[in-house]
Amino acid sequence: MLQKLEAGLRDIPDYPSPGILFKDITPLLADPALFAAAVDALAAAHRPGSGAEVDLVAGVEARGFIFGAGVALALGVGFVPIRKKGKLPHTTVSAEYTLEYGTAVIEMHDDAVRPGQRVLLLDDVLATGGTAEAAAGLLERVGAEVVSVAFLVELGFLNGRERLAGRDVKSLLNY
Ligand code: AMP
Repeated sequence: MLQKLEAGLRDIPDYPSPGILFKDITPLLADPALFAAAVDALAAAHRPGSGAEVDLVAGVEARGFIFGAGVALALGVGFVPIRKKGKLPHTTVSAEYTLEYGTAVIEMHDDAVRPGQRVLLLDDVLATGGTAEAAAGLLERVGAEVVSVAFLVELGFLNGRERLAGRDVKSLLNY
């Protein structure tokens, strides 16, 4: 199954900037059996009876929405969008984090999670871990318990896991 998922990824060299090997997930998304298999694999550890059930799934704009929404539906729980600055209409909490060049800000509605709720955080790719660290921090700031942070792809050589130390980190494919 993992080999099939891997076949659904396309490497794009030097995108969006020279030296970056971009993991393009669009072939996987275009194949309904592969897309379903990826969602199923990401949801598996949190199914009812697993002991790691969650109340909500959170995903980071934009590709985290694709898998996050699918996994939320697969688990029968709600979905929390974490968005780029300025996109959410209600009151928000926000976090600034470092990108390869410069900084970025993500936001979440401050009433999106009730204190004590158990949340699975999803994104497509774990690279340096800055995005996921900021997103997990937002969830924890409003009192959520981040049960796990899960990714389709982990770029292990970038050591993003270190920035998520102390949290359960899972990935289906590690490079
Ligand atoms: P990070 O460095 O972990 O904060 O990654 C920033 C965001 O960019 C994440 O949401 C990833 O989905 C995306 N990203 C970073 N590097 C890559 C890559 N090589 N291929 C595809 N997406 C990437």
